[in-house]
Amino acid sequence: MTDRTTVERTWADVVATARRTVADGLVVGTSGNVSARAGDLIVVTPSGVPYDRLGVDDAVAVDLDGRQVAGELIPTSELPMHLAVYRETPAAAVVHTHAEHATAVSTLVPELPLIHYMAAALGGPVRVAPYALYGTEELAESVLRALHGRTGCLLQNHGTLTYGATLDQAYDRTAQLDWMCRVWLTAAALPGRTPSLLTPDQLHQVTEKLRGYGQRG
Ligand code: 13P
Ligand code: ZN
Repeated sequence: MTDRTTVERTWADVVATARRTVADGLVVGTSGNVSARAGDLIVVTPSGVPYDRLGVDDAVAVDLDGRQVAGELIPTSELPMHLAVYRETPAAAVVHTHAEHATAVSTLVPELPLIHYMAAALGGPVRVAPYALYGTEELAESVLRALHGRTGCLLQNHGTLTYGATLDQAYDRTAQLDWMCRVWLTAAALPGRTPSLLTPDQLHQVTEKLRGYGQRG
């Protein structure tokens, strides 16, 4: 069983990440939601509460079946989507936003064109999960299909979902995804011009090279 300190520490990280989505303009108000694993529990943001009002005593935690085991506040309405990702992927953290450029792209194409090599950081070309009502099992299933072999997807006419081994990694994937969507929208908007795209082979090369990216050790 997960101890209280682990839940409290995870809660602090979840709230910090949720606040970051607002500060960085990836959501407005109480849109979006964030969660992270704490042992056999999932710590989640509550539904409809501004993130700057969340205190140290407000931690919300559920088990993998969605039963609430800590907190008074009602968990995010997107709990089915978060739980589905934890059940079906190696996710340790999940970030859902209504990021502007990503949401715009989700209304235009079934998959974000390979405009930039950072698609490799999300496992390949990012798919759009067909629209379903927020908070439903139907949306959760749509997202799971779009996530196959990827660590992120767009939600049609809704937003983004990314996961990672840490909250920072899940957050960075959302930021990269929205940035790539912005690049594509910018390039595709030039009248009479069509952006060049990467080939699957070029992306594969990046996937290999990214394994050695950054500092060693
Ligand atoms: P919650 O406030 O219930 O987390 O809902 C926000 C949201 O983005 C629903 O898709
Ligand atoms: Zn949403």
